[in-house]
Amino acid sequence: VAAARATDLSKVYGQGETKVIALDRVSVEFRQGQFTAIMGPSGSGKSTLMHCMAGLDSVSSGSARIGDIELTALKDKKLTQLRRDKIGFIFQAFNLLPTLNAMENITLPMDIAGRKPDRAWLEKVVETVGLSGRLKHRPSELSGGQQQRVAVARALASQPDIIFGDEPTGNLDSRSGAEVLGFLRNSVRELGQTVVMVTHDPVAASYADRVIFLADGRIVDDMLGPTADSVL
Ligand code: ADP
Ligand code: ADP
Repeated sequence: VAAARATDLSKVYGQGETKVIALDRVSVEFRQGQFTAIMGPSGSGKSTLMHCMAGLDSVSSGSARIGDIELTALKDKKLTQLRRDKIGFIFQAFNLLPTLNAMENITLPMDIAGRKPDRAWLEKVVETVGLSGRLKHRPSELSGGQQQRVAVARALASQPDIIFGDEPTGNLDSRSGAEVLGFLRNSVRELGQTVVMVTHDPVAASYADRVIFLADGRIVDDMLGPTADSVL
């Protein structure tokens, strides 16, 4: 089952002498329950691919689907709704609100959207990311790794179909980074989530089931790791 799929996806910035082909007819499928890392040199199109698939950036040609919904056919309002309902994001900067405790931060997007979190799911998420004893703590009382785990839990809270991470461990020391990646991998395994993560760190990529390499806006390699069997 494809959680998301790009077909002949191109993204061109500028025109004439400033024209940049950021994505050149990329086709790729992100399977449900799979943890994919996107790697490649700076400027190879990693962020653009993720932004196009997440409906954060418009597409020049081709198709970008989340489940069976064609993003390129949606107007702004529907796109915003789709992002809210089906997509989770984890950014390099954790973007937590300092005055709210961990649990309040985790449920904030759902509170804003007027949605009630599923209690059983929320408990499972909090346990999976290892935050059970830290829910009343504010961000300033948590380590960097714990703060990023709050951000992971926040992305998972609404049960999105797919989660996109942009260098989610880029700001963490290697030990905290390893913890967060371990929890991300757990949530893929135990909660059946689909995760797509951009990283330049081979150690981070080693946590993924699959690694896609981009160069000059094209996929030049697509490798399944040893742990991928269970999802194929
Ligand atoms: P990566 O994430 O792999 O570093 P990006 O997706 O950010 O690569 O960028 C791919 C290419 O598109 C680069 O050449 C970059 O300069 C260009 N690019 C990205 N965003 C824009 C933009 N908003 N305007 C013009 N060019 C852009
Ligand atoms: P990354 O760290 O993934 O390589 P960048 O630092 O290249 O990302 O880009 C950060 C942001 O700036 C992105 O949103 C991208 O769209 C935009 N951007 C990248 N390159 C350009 C460019 N040449 N002109 C305008 N915006 C750009």
